[in-house]
Amino acid sequence: MRAEGIETARRILCVFPRYTSSFGTFEYAYPLTDGVQAFMPPQGLLLIAAYLPANWSVRFIDENIRATTAEDFKWAEAVFVSGMHIQRQQMNDICRRAHSFDLTVAIGGPSVSACPDYYPSFDYLHVGELGDATDDLIARLARDPSRPAQQVVLKTADRLDMTEFPIPAYELADIKRYFLGSIQYSSGCPYQCEFCDIPGLYGRNPRLKTPQQITAELDRLLECGVTGSVYFVDDNFIGNRKAALDLLPHLIEWQKKTGYVTRLACEATLNIAKRSEILEKMREAYFVTVFCGIETPDPDALKAMHKDHNMMVPILEGIATINRYGMEVVSGIIMGLDTDKPDTGEALLAFVDESRIPLLTINLLQALPKTPLWDRLERENRLIDDETRDSNVDFRLPYDQVVSSWRNCMEVAYQPEKLFARYQYQVDYTYANRMPLPATAEQRTWANIRRGLTMLGKIFWKVGVLGDYRKVFWKFALSRLRNGDIESLISVTLVAHHLIMFARAASVGQQNASNYSVRLREASVPAE
Ligand code: SF4
Repeated sequence: MRAEGIETARRILCVFPRYTSSFGTFEYAYPLTDGVQAFMPPQGLLLIAAYLPANWSVRFIDENIRATTAEDFKWAEAVFVSGMHIQRQQMNDICRRAHSFDLTVAIGGPSVSACPDYYPSFDYLHVGELGDATDDLIARLARDPSRPAQQVVLKTADRLDMTEFPIPAYELADIKRYFLGSIQYSSGCPYQCEFCDIPGLYGRNPRLKTPQQITAELDRLLECGVTGSVYFVDDNFIGNRKAALDLLPHLIEWQKKTGYVTRLACEATLNIAKRSEILEKMREAYFVTVFCGIETPDPDALKAMHKDHNMMVPILEGIATINRYGMEVVSGIIMGLDTDKPDTGEALLAFVDESRIPLLTINLLQALPKTPLWDRLERENRLIDDETRDSNVDFRLPYDQVVSSWRNCMEVAYQPEKLFARYQYQVDYTYANRMPLPATAEQRTWANIRRGLTMLGKIFWKVGVLGDYRKVFWKFALSRLRNGDIESLISVTLVAHHLIMFARAASVGQQNASNYSVRLREASVPAE
């Protein structure tokens, strides 16, 4: 549903800030694609855009795709911004630019909801989720769009039920320019891992959309040109196991109806491995990837961070189980934990070899506001406010030792030979377990064929001819070509190329050691 009862029409410019270059945004893969320029369509801002009164005009700009122009600012009566902590400096920069046109600027989303004091210059702070604060903001702007004399903070006390969420305004975004499509089914997580801000921000009792909302959103994403994969951005897809089981038959039907043109991916706790009834249905719905926050293979560390649920099955066994249902595991890993020892890096590399997980997002521990970790470190006087560091945590081990161990792990784990060997394992022992897909007319469209050929051409030229790891690439590529498996050849190479390039930059100190680091790289500042 939309906000109702507002008669005055307004022009709202929604601006999504650039990401600081990071491991998880895959930007090194973009030049090998048919024009991808950004990672995922931002759910929050597109949701707000859809919620605004029907008679309001909305323009959406993702600064990962193009910078906001003077014409955009001149068109608008107010600017909405949303983002995560990692985009903090960019959000403040958008505010500065909008103010130079004397525009009112409102900010919402996870970062301002956790840390309103990060955003002193904004005119309106929208703290919390879609709800009464949103209605209040809309009513105020309808009455008067000019800048208030001082900052106004609006806090959501009454959240809009997710069953009443409108479909995010995907039609405003250039969906084809995104690496992945995104969709959200639930919000919140029942666990309380020490470092995580999700339960504090969104609650421990997951709230849900209906399966019908999800299939309607998927339809809309397809209409808007989503290609390839759609990622469920839910913090934990099995946060409510019954809800996951309710949704999956609808996804299976939707895949049959639309000809299996979409691959699905999600985030879930590793104890999903205990739920064969869920895994079986995920296989049928063509989920191909599950991101699991494994964090560390060290049981003592898992206990200390209150992530014992990762040990409900032995970790390697859990990964192998998920692989048996055709799903590749992507793993989050944290270094710099209090339990880390001088040989933690070695142990991690051994785990990478044993688990055969190709893609692990290895980050330094960062204390986020509104987490038990933040509270503990504050009590222990171990929070460090220094933007030249890659973490705000005063580690038990010397900082330089932790960073150099991280760099070494990145360098070794993503050596082309090792990475492609792990992918070859996935092809043989994970992808082979996927449901054989019927050859449908929807898959064999001319647009799909042209897209595949474009990517193959770029991969062969930039990696196979010009690339310095071309020997390793061709060994993998030829085996895929012999098997007629063009899809794996393309999808693996796109991701592998990003990992190899990012890891090389990281190992010589040219990339941040944390997804949350606020250190800025020059390239991440949008042009004006
Ligand atoms: S299981 Fe995942 S989403 Fe839930 S609290 Fe732990 S880290 Fe956060």
